[in-house]
Amino acid sequence: MHRRIIAPGALAAASLLLAIPASAASYSPGAPGIGDPYYPYYGNGGYDVSHYDLRLRYQPKTDELQGTATILARTTQDLSSFDLDFLLDVSEVRVNGAKAAFRHAEQHELVITPRTPLAKGTPVTVVVRYSGVPSTKSAYGFDTWHRTPDGAVAADEPEAAWWWFPSNDHPSDKATYDVSVAVPDGTQAISNGTLRSTRSERGWTRYSWRQDKPQATYLATLAIGRFDITTGTSERGVPVLNAYSKDLGDNDGAARASVERTGEIVDWLSNYFGPYPFAEAGGYVPNTTTGYALETQTRVFYSPKQFAKGANTSVVVHELAHQWYGDDVSVKGWKDIWLNEGFATYAQWLWSEHEGEGTAQELADHVYASHPADDPFWTVAPGDPGADDQFDDAVYDRGAAAIQALRDEVGDTAFFRILKGWPKSHAYGNASVADFEKYAEQISGKPLAGLFDTWLYQRSKPAVGAVRSFAAAGTAGKAVPQPKSWKKIEAAHGGHGR
Ligand SMILES: [Zn+2]
Repeated sequence: MHRRIIAPGALAAASLLLAIPASAASYSPGAPGIGDPYYPYYGNGGYDVSHYDLRLRYQPKTDELQGTATILARTTQDLSSFDLDFLLDVSEVRVNGAKAAFRHAEQHELVITPRTPLAKGTPVTVVVRYSGVPSTKSAYGFDTWHRTPDGAVAADEPEAAWWWFPSNDHPSDKATYDVSVAVPDGTQAISNGTLRSTRSERGWTRYSWRQDKPQATYLATLAIGRFDITTGTSERGVPVLNAYSKDLGDNDGAARASVERTGEIVDWLSNYFGPYPFAEAGGYVPNTTTGYALETQTRVFYSPKQFAKGANTSVVVHELAHQWYGDDVSVKGWKDIWLNEGFATYAQWLWSEHEGEGTAQELADHVYASHPADDPFWTVAPGDPGADDQFDDAVYDRGAAAIQALRDEVGDTAFFRILKGWPKSHAYGNASVADFEKYAEQISGKPLAGLFDTWLYQRSKPAVGAVRSFAAAGTAGKAVPQPKSWKKIEAAHGGHGR
């Protein structure tokens, strides 16, 4: 995907130390990365954010974004300076009310040195005033800000925030959000959570959104454009708000015929995963040229291309399943991506069965049989795929087959208890694949280390004995027909902006 070889500037660190009073010798700069081996410079060390308040103004004609971000955090070490992840132009930073020194550093770091060093365990308020044209900014040679004819969209994984707000950009630091965006009258601004107010003044309309449950930075989204907004409530009482670009052309009908099923699908998924974890559900389809969908919290991002071949409820199931597996319970590190993609894919398999287009077992059979032992597919370990293969097909398909193998091993009763209990056991928090393994053993009462090792970590095709019911089908040389749902399921695989 993208790699960086950057030594944190030793010179810069030395000059910072000189600026600190002798009495504060124990104070040191926060690390420029939060410690994720896949992306060493993503997120930052030394503090934990609890809330982002983003007050923005966006002009679609010029792509100019102005903003004030107020970030509430708490220090986790004695800090002489700390980083935020951000690319736009900063005019002022205040820390606890006082102006702070700041500078941009490689590649997306904003290094902030407060007037007074910050003691460990204290609350900190950081205000960042900024402006810029996001489409002119890049890091590592890419740009995930998607311009549209009438606006722009921020929705990508693992990075999208740098182009529109300063943050501690890693899923392990979740926070609540208030996002308030002024746009020219006739244009809408879509974000996560619930729309608290819209107010027009002197040609501009301000949309104020609130996400009152913890949200990972990559799940924060912003879309500006001319949208048609629909609202409703699911049978079980979940409010739904969807938005469709007025410029979807031929894809408009298929997009609506898919995304308008949101309420029904949220209720259906809650049979398996427990009550829907957020105050509102929904999705939006902007007029982007992208091809993927993303589980942005409470308001899923869909590309029009997802519906170019007709309606696809399977992709809606995938992204809504992430609301439990990915958004409610988020990865601790990016290596834990199987907890997101394996389970969202398995939800599609359950939906396929519900729709009469192939059972989960048939889909597992198909995955197993369609990849011979020498297929590089089996060299990707879903339990720790590496940054380059984070969104490889194997994370999704072998990942979902691993879940079918678990089901075979523990039986349906324990399996569905695990599926429903897991989101509750780590609600609004973070978890690792190892945490899931422990949980599955605890609920089923069975030792599962061997099964998880075979399916999640071995870089080879599981042997016949390791896969009960579906091994036979795949190894007896019998053709395993492609289930009817297969192509729609595959359409939900990661194929991100780059
Ligand atoms: Zn996914």
